[in-house]
Amino acid sequence: MIAFDPPRLTVYCGASLGAKPVYAEAVRTLGRLLLQHGLGVVYGGAELGLMGVIAGTVAEGGGEVIGIIPDFMQAKGLTHPAGAEVQIVDSMHSRKMKMTTLGAGFVALPGGLGTLDELVEALTWAQLGLHDKPIGLLNVEGYFDPFLSLLDHATREGFVKLAHRELLITASSPEILLHAMATRAAKGRS
Ligand code: AMP
Repeated sequence: MIAFDPPRLTVYCGASLGAKPVYAEAVRTLGRLLLQHGLGVVYGGAELGLMGVIAGTVAEGGGEVIGIIPDFMQAKGLTHPAGAEVQIVDSMHSRKMKMTTLGAGFVALPGGLGTLDELVEALTWAQLGLHDKPIGLLNVEGYFDPFLSLLDHATREGFVKLAHRELLITASSPEILLHAMATRAAKGRS
């Protein structure tokens, strides 16, 4: 059993589906795994791209889905999967804070600028000691290889400490990723 306290993870992923069906397939696999282990999802709130896939998969399976959306996005009339709880906040800043607070850890899936921004912020906040939650990266078909190379380069060049580089847990299988994150979270508590 993969367990987190509270039993939900914050998921960062694309508001687009990406160029290959394998991205959505990996997100569905992660969603089903979360359901199997009784884990819910906190996410960006819209029914778009991979965000819609993770929220839809978990909500359809009867799992907990909490979408956090700033009022200016809500005003654009975005839809949400049936069964998702939607919380409206007053700014992007409050949204990120809430997404950080509600999940027991963070999983980044393929995505664009929004996803990269959220992932790097989760890492930066951990680096600053603002949280000690596990941060996982699902590297579907090597999508994040160039990003990981940049992080390694920044570490070699003395801009990222090795201990901070190691904050990021990376796997290409959702199951291996969640196990590693749960182990890291349990170590943090002991
Ligand atoms: P991107 O990776 O640029 O597609 O952005 C997706 C990430 O940024 C998600 O994890 C969301 O939290 C946030 N985001 C970006 N665009 C939207 C949108 N139109 N609606 C809701 N959330 C979004």
